[in-house]
Amino acid sequence: MKLTILGCYSATPQLHTNPTAQIFEIKNHTFLIDCGEGTQVELRRHKVKFGKIKHIFISHLHGDHCFGLAGLISTFRLLTREADLHIYAPKGLKEVITLQMKLSQSWTNYKLIFHELSSTTSELIYEDDKVEVHTIPLDHRIYTNGFLFKEKPGERKLDINAVLNADIDVAYYRKLKQGADVPNNNGTIVKNETVTRDPQPPKSYAFCSDTAYNEAMLPIIKDVDVLYHESTFIDKHEDLALPTKHSTAKQAATIAKKANVKQLILGHYSTRYDDLTAFKTEAETIFKPVELAKDGKVFDF
Ligand SMILES: [Zn+2]
Repeated sequence: MKLTILGCYSATPQLHTNPTAQIFEIKNHTFLIDCGEGTQVELRRHKVKFGKIKHIFISHLHGDHCFGLAGLISTFRLLTREADLHIYAPKGLKEVITLQMKLSQSWTNYKLIFHELSSTTSELIYEDDKVEVHTIPLDHRIYTNGFLFKEKPGERKLDINAVLNADIDVAYYRKLKQGADVPNNNGTIVKNETVTRDPQPPKSYAFCSDTAYNEAMLPIIKDVDVLYHESTFIDKHEDLALPTKHSTAKQAATIAKKANVKQLILGHYSTRYDDLTAFKTEAETIFKPVELAKDGKVFDF
């Protein structure tokens, strides 16, 4: 799994950083998460092939999370894209984008498929044989979802020496990988666990922006490998967090700790901060390890 930060500040684009957007690669998918202004330039900078993006997940309709989308859709059209594009977003975005295309008479030559979200409980919104994506309802000023990306458990691994010693016909290998006990060439049943090993544990990534401190998300994000949680403020501006429905670095770390995640990435910093050191030091008083998101930073996990 690979996460590339395209933008990680809140509010307005800056010379050195962009509003929220990320590329998350998992099992041959290239998912775009949020699409703030400047996203398509950052996609070019990081050499992400536009054609590989088939699914876009938008957390909410504040501009710093979706103002780049109309431009990206238009660029796809100019590049004569043909592949379908799926957009998972709160109800309303379809109306915005459709009106924009209508008034500019620039309908796409590819299929634009909106999956409008309005549920306030977590739901499965995408699934194939390797990956699942669930929403994480968040507590923000408008309807907002985070997203949980999960690998499905893989097949069991054959211990090939044990399989050969047990004298099992190759025709049964498929069943062994699926966890079944099978007969050997003498007709004796061989216990699966004596000739196979557990697969790699499936990995998971939770993206949670924007939100106030919200323990309701804990059961959904429990034990994830990596949690990206917004931290718009540091402690000295804690009084701003609640009215704006954002979090501090310490609140993000508390969620990470209570959810027993393996790693926390902080982002969505207020543009009032140039030096981000305090975000890390304050969060680390509660939870470790903490990483700071930065435009262009890549996380492999
Ligand atoms: Zn917001």
